[in-house]
Amino acid sequence: MSEHFDAIVVGAGPSGNACAYTMAKAGMNVLQIDRGEYPGSKNVQGAILYSDALERIIPDFRDSAPLERHVSELRFWMLSETSNTSASHRNDGFEDGKPDRYTILRAPFDKWFSKKVREAGAVLITETTVVDLVKNDKGKVIGVLTDREGGPIYADVVVLAEGVNGVVGQRAKLRPELKPQHVALAVKETHFFPEEVIRERFNLQGEDDGVVIEVLGSVTSGMVGTAFLYTNKESISIGVGCLLADFAKTKIPPYELLDRFKRHPAVVPLLRGGEMKEYVAHLIPEGGYDAIPNLTGDGWVIVGDAGQFVNAVHREGSNLAMTTGRLAGECLAELKAQGLAPTNDNLKLFRDRLGESFVMKDMKKYRKVPHLLEKNRQLFATYPRAINQVMQAYFRVDGMDKRSKEGIALRNVAKARGGWWSVATDLVKVARAWR
Ligand code: FAD
Repeated sequence: MSEHFDAIVVGAGPSGNACAYTMAKAGMNVLQIDRGEYPGSKNVQGAILYSDALERIIPDFRDSAPLERHVSELRFWMLSETSNTSASHRNDGFEDGKPDRYTILRAPFDKWFSKKVREAGAVLITETTVVDLVKNDKGKVIGVLTDREGGPIYADVVVLAEGVNGVVGQRAKLRPELKPQHVALAVKETHFFPEEVIRERFNLQGEDDGVVIEVLGSVTSGMVGTAFLYTNKESISIGVGCLLADFAKTKIPPYELLDRFKRHPAVVPLLRGGEMKEYVAHLIPEGGYDAIPNLTGDGWVIVGDAGQFVNAVHREGSNLAMTTGRLAGECLAELKAQGLAPTNDNLKLFRDRLGESFVMKDMKKYRKVPHLLEKNRQLFATYPRAINQVMQAYFRVDGMDKRSKEGIALRNVAKARGGWWSVATDLVKVARAWR
């Protein structure tokens, strides 16, 4: 192995793979290091894969990627303890035969992506942890130190794609320590079923059709968070995630929350008879735009979850990881081709490209949302319960006329929130944060 590389990429998740692939394809000499036994072995996701981000890197990914189901229906549930009000969007009109999202299982998916990276020419070493960055006397990053013998490995640039709780960037003071109000802790189980059971239970038409269900309400016990239930080919992924700060405050164990979700009357019939084979926990960066650290410096770049790139409102993370990784890879390859060093000044190219992309525009758009949610827990508790009560009362046929029911329903919403003024204020706050 050559001792000096054009680039070292720390991490073989979506952001690291996108970056390493892009640079290797452009002819750069790339080393990628992951601490897992194999890429994906330690990675956790729901998981929805958004096609567009991957298509821009590997246009024909559908021919070989291990995809579970294409998502033809999105369901949104608002739960109270005993009831469920829902909405859904179904789309069967993929005229070009290219659905825009799929469910995936991260371990096989990351393995597949990593194989593509190696086919493009990058060198991968696994079961190796990067423990620190190596800097020269001017503070420029010039390589990495790993937990293996053999001393430093040198490169023109180090790309930190180490995920949300990677410690290398923090240890080298390139990014701040995580704040409990900036990360969600998510727990997830995978339950296995015969394929036809999944098709029947979720009313799936085509063989590869899938459904994802996003859930808000009583399931998080008033904490800032959501739950989800996704259909894979022969399994269902079910999970719940809330702010770490809220878990610390309420002292509710995450697995207890997931158990409560699994016992909800709307969920019980969907999981009946399955075999649970996997339980995992992972952090999700949810601090939003204001939590994004400096992304570049002399000889280093941060991409993906390590840079807090998650759009929690739309539950997008892997696509932001791939896009930031790809853009960094493209810019580093361009600098190399022009004979320019990856200094912080020259890496303005990456910061500018990112600023022009949907990634930064969306992060900016929802800039106020983390603060809104943290300060307005009624959005997760009071409203879902009130809406379910209103629906129950409104649709119950009990001899009361509909106009009277409407009056009572509206008064009940106001009562649940302590008056109309509070409801109006909440609406204004939400509208402002969404602008
Ligand atoms: P990661 O995927 O975390 O990869 C980081 C890699 O770096 C790992 O392979 C790790 O082993 C390696 N690493 C870390 N430190 C070191 C070190 N020091 N040395 C060597 N290697 C190291 N996103 C979506 O788009 N759709 C979803 O449905 C979705 N659902 C999610 C559900 C859950 C429960 C969770 C936790 C996340 C979900 N996300 C989802 C978010 C998505 O998983 C992340 O945004 C994405 O994985 C980020 O990719 P990444 O490459 O930046 O980081």
